[in-house]
Amino acid sequence: MAMNQTQILTRILEVTRLLATYSDLESYLQAVISAAVELTDSETASILEFDPGAREFYFKFIPWYHREATEGVRVPLDGSIAGWVFKNAQTAVVQDVRSDERHFSKLDELTSFETRSMICVPLMLQGKPVGVFETFNKKDGAKYSSEDALMLETLAALATAAIQADLLEESIQSSREEARELDRLKNEFVAITSHELRTPLGLILGHATFLREIVSDEHKEQVDTIVRSASRLKDIVETLSNVDNFQAGTSTLRNRKVSAARLVEDVASSFREMAAKKGVEIQTNLPKNDDLLVDIDVSKITVALSNIVRNAITFTNQGGRITLRGSQQTGFAKISVEDTGIGIPTKDIPMIFERFYQVESHLTRRHGGMGLGLSVARVMIEMHGGRIWVESEEGKGSTFTFLLPFEAKVRPPKTDRPFV
Ligand code: ADP
Repeated sequence: MAMNQTQILTRILEVTRLLATYSDLESYLQAVISAAVELTDSETASILEFDPGAREFYFKFIPWYHREATEGVRVPLDGSIAGWVFKNAQTAVVQDVRSDERHFSKLDELTSFETRSMICVPLMLQGKPVGVFETFNKKDGAKYSSEDALMLETLAALATAAIQADLLEESIQSSREEARELDRLKNEFVAITSHELRTPLGLILGHATFLREIVSDEHKEQVDTIVRSASRLKDIVETLSNVDNFQAGTSTLRNRKVSAARLVEDVASSFREMAAKKGVEIQTNLPKNDDLLVDIDVSKITVALSNIVRNAITFTNQGGRITLRGSQQTGFAKISVEDTGIGIPTKDIPMIFERFYQVESHLTRRHGGMGLGLSVARVMIEMHGGRIWVESEEGKGSTFTFLLPFEAKVRPPKTDRPFV
């Protein structure tokens, strides 16, 4: 029964909606074929994929009731309607294949199927043909109409869109796997290097410290430089292995009950001089009473907060202000460090807690650092069952906030905060 334009559109819409419910490519394409059979009122349909090596097509998708007959059957590029459509990237509507010299007549012999009429449309992927989509034998000996061809072209476009999405998904998946492997190699490299550096570094530091005691005054300065630089290297190696130990689960906490307000005040005081040199003011806003008593490893949380405050000073210009706050949030002490600095671009926010990540390229930026400060802070805070996140606006400033459970090993609360 011939359909009018509105009916055709309605059917296409229905089919498109139905297709959206299929999640895997194979069932999707099978459904596209069934839709083609139904909408063009044909006996059967198939998708043929082109094999460039063999210069022939094979039946990639076909209704199950014809699958056995087409098993192993190949259609040549030269001397077939499929080949003509593929080479010309054009639809062919053939009402009687017997009178069409392009037809690959051996096909019927091979498949025991009598082809009378067909529509064949190219499947184009990124402007290149990759196969063809065919419907065979309009029922009751009727002729294929231009609407039938349009219908098949529409379904072919849906099929290729799905194939493209599938290829994209595949490449995303393999990039993800590559990234995971790279991350593993990076971790291994860091673990091995920091381990191997520790011994010679210890020796340099030990011997240099010894030499400092015995050298004459004129060489003291040089030896001092060696000791200072070796100590700096040792700090870097310690920082690296701190993160590694946590990731390997070998780090332990030495907890005790302390006032988080006190800890914040201490860290603020230790940075006031450094901030003042840059013309940056550090303020605190903390509860007076002892209602921020937390069960924590003080040295680790001090390292975490210091890293955040050091960054706040580094990335805040003269005349700026840094405010450290403390408050309660059901079961947690909430500490935040707000600065009026340069802020962090939105696209970088999800990455800044990753190891070695720096917003500005390491080679061009003016500040030191290895992109480890925040990853160490996160590690230390998460070890305590806490969470850290940042809110920031470029040009306005950043606020780093973290939660520490009052009781050790409490799960953090669900919050609508953008945890990173
Ligand atoms: P680094 O020690 O090299 O600064 P971090 O892990 O501490 O590394 O920080 C990662 C990056 O996050 C920094 O290089 C910087 O670009 C950005 N960042 C951290 N804190 C701030 C801040 N308060 N304001 C602006 N950018 C910041």
